[in-house]
Amino acid sequence: NPASNSPLLAGLNDEQLAAVTLPAGHALILAGAGSGKTRVLTTRIAWLLQTGQATPGSILAVTFTNKAAKEMLLRLSSMLPYNVRGMWIGTFHGLCNRMLRAHYQAAKLPQAFQILDTQDQLSAIKRLCKQFNVDDERFPPKQLMYFIAGCKEEGMRPADVVATDPDTRKKVELYQLYEEQCQREGVVDFGELMLRSFELLRDDVHLRQHYQRRFQHILVDEFQDTNKLQYQWLKQLAGEADGGRYVSQSSVIAVGDDDQSIYAFRGARVGNMADFIREFGVKNQIKLEQNYRSYSNILDCANALISHNSNRLGKNLRTTQGPGEPVRIYESPSDLAEAAWMVDEIKQLVKNDGFKRQEIAVLYRSNAQSRVIESALFNASIPYRVYGGLRFFERAEIKHALAYLRLLENPHDETSFLRVVNFPARGIGARTIEVLQDTARGSGCSLNDAVTAVGGSAGTKLQGFVAKLDVLREQTQGKTLREIIETVQEQSGLIEHYRNEKEGADRIENLQELVTAAESFVTQEGFGRDAVALPVDAQEILPGANLSQSPASQGLDPNAPLLDEALKAPAGTAASMVNEDTGETMSPLAAFLSHASLEAGDNQAQAGQDAVQLMTVHASKGLEFDAVFIGGVEEGLFPHENAMMDRGGIEEERRLAYVAITRARKRLYLSHSQTRMLHGQTRYNTKSRFFDELPEEALKWITPKQSGFGSFTPNSGAGGSYGSRAGGQFGSNWGSKQTDVFASPPVPKQKAEPSHGMKAGIAVFHNKFGEGKVLAVEGQGDDARAQVSFGRHGTKWLALSIAKLTIVD
Ligand code: ATP
Ligand code: MG
Repeated sequence: NPASNSPLLAGLNDEQLAAVTLPAGHALILAGAGSGKTRVLTTRIAWLLQTGQATPGSILAVTFTNKAAKEMLLRLSSMLPYNVRGMWIGTFHGLCNRMLRAHYQAAKLPQAFQILDTQDQLSAIKRLCKQFNVDDERFPPKQLMYFIAGCKEEGMRPADVVATDPDTRKKVELYQLYEEQCQREGVVDFGELMLRSFELLRDDVHLRQHYQRRFQHILVDEFQDTNKLQYQWLKQLAGEADGGRYVSQSSVIAVGDDDQSIYAFRGARVGNMADFIREFGVKNQIKLEQNYRSYSNILDCANALISHNSNRLGKNLRTTQGPGEPVRIYESPSDLAEAAWMVDEIKQLVKNDGFKRQEIAVLYRSNAQSRVIESALFNASIPYRVYGGLRFFERAEIKHALAYLRLLENPHDETSFLRVVNFPARGIGARTIEVLQDTARGSGCSLNDAVTAVGGSAGTKLQGFVAKLDVLREQTQGKTLREIIETVQEQSGLIEHYRNEKEGADRIENLQELVTAAESFVTQEGFGRDAVALPVDAQEILPGANLSQSPASQGLDPNAPLLDEALKAPAGTAASMVNEDTGETMSPLAAFLSHASLEAGDNQAQAGQDAVQLMTVHASKGLEFDAVFIGGVEEGLFPHENAMMDRGGIEEERRLAYVAITRARKRLYLSHSQTRMLHGQTRYNTKSRFFDELPEEALKWITPKQSGFGSFTPNSGAGGSYGSRAGGQFGSNWGSKQTDVFASPPVPKQKAEPSHGMKAGIAVFHNKFGEGKVLAVEGQGDDARAQVSFGRHGTKWLALSIAKLTIVD
């Protein structure tokens, strides 16, 4: 064998070597995480080229993400002197796009066809529904979108769908109309890329034979997560169906791990593996069992955990690396404490152990968990990047909610106005908005003020929107920040809107998380506490700003009269935003909004900057990091409550946990918290059942240095139904950690009788603004402030420690 001593093959183990150098023919490589599957695929491509068994043009490789495709190309170009551009390496969608571009006429597409992303697709469907007067209560556009996508994933055109009930018939009809609209406009959605390309291969025999001859080598990574249509597409490329048997000229090598199948909810079929073996008559099956990624303590955890799943194809992982550090498990009193602990550990890893920030990942099960962690990293000036997702305050639903809140504070905020004037949809079209903008421009007033000048039904709708804001402003007078946000989210129709979306649950969670954010801003953080740890980046946001000032005060509208006062005041308290003379202060809402815009500012790590990586477990598939933190390993969160109904759900969660654990090379940290503010509520979660499935020898339990609220009473769990683990499964290490459940729920902070005696409803006198009525009181001690309505002076927020308010009987 001319290439058996090729440097390419150096360092491969026997199974890997066998896989890389397989003779022509189909093969399945089934192997656990970190065993070198992706590396084998890449190396095989290089080896085929180097030994002259393949030309670049004969290779097609499918990866799961664009990032993976780029990495593969990068590695190949470093291994080989070839121009790698002739190879087809990409995601399914990317490859289909390439094919359709090359054969747009055969595919009956315009040469410059456009691809709709999910948002565009939704607006296209909405337009369609409007045109045909579809009742969007009965057929919410988002649901239609998923219906259409689901049909396409199954390879079904409208004519193929068997509709037995009137609703389905209607949806099929709309699917048909949607297709016609897309065709007319020359656009394709993601599902269409795949389906159209499949049909092209199926129906055009010349083209099919051309590609079958061309792609002698087809390689598929993450095969366990392919869906039905993708598998059919591969079959078209791989060979000729002949009397039910596959006669194939090419070699298909699929690599996968049934234990890492985590996209069932999107139509992925692990069953494709069994089908592949059967339909392609796969004789070569290779297992890779040596893990090169992780130390054995980490691997033991992964193996032990996944062994609790049934129906596995069965494989194990071993490593020749030593045990490494134990897997650290941290139980924190609260989610804030959990995040603070992560930040501390991250600092240590970087400072004492020489870890690079980009080699540290924080993984979470739900997107909503990221906010608290982002905030802690932000406050500690640690650059971070949220991978495959938006930072909390940049998410669309959050921006929508903030836009409504901003309009309460300032009806003339045009960006906010335009963002939500027709969101949720209230029949205000682009044309109407143009008219409104022209009118406003013509008379030099704001959009808000121009609505009365617009006539007709368009004008009525616009006025309705403004009236709605006025009512909201009225309704939220005297309310706490929490109540304001909740009212706005409900009354604006945002919650209702997302409730009707198939995947709106996540967005509702985020909206509730906004309430949590506000709550902790007001009560736990205090108005200006962030000031203590204001990151250096914030300097750039307001040039010349004094670092000793609170970010909230720096986020103020520079024209606001209070800014000067605010900048003179001491940092760190609500008083930093107070006019010393009158006691006027920012409303909690205004302060929170500035806080939000500041956190949304572009302190996100720059590309290429060494930054901690934050992502969901789903997004982490295929990646690896030196250190991995997995937060919120709690019942209801991980496993997620939506998946706890059935065994299948739990097993998918367990696979997710397996994926998460196996991302770590050197250090792994798992944490759970006794209390967590999530979705606007405090939850008392018990630690995840998954902890019971980990081998005790590989673990190290750490307790918080000092307990926060909801203290750990060493005895509180002993002998009780919680805590004392029957059979001593957790052995002596369990030690003081007997309270695995919240044995004694936290005592709510005692509400001391406020000394100022202010409360809503009483009459007061201010020496500048005169008589007024207290609408609301917030905060404690020096931070206490009241919202007071003063007749012609309007409604003001006053800091009670400064404003000279007297109570009028
Ligand atoms: P996953 O299931 O998570 O996608 P994988 O099976 O694709 O994992 P790879 O990412 O290919 O695994 O490999 C894991 C790590 O082990 C990589 O850093 C890779 O470079 C390294 N590795 C693989 N094989 C070897 C080997 N023979 N010698 C040294 N390092 C190896
Ligand atoms: Mg891989």
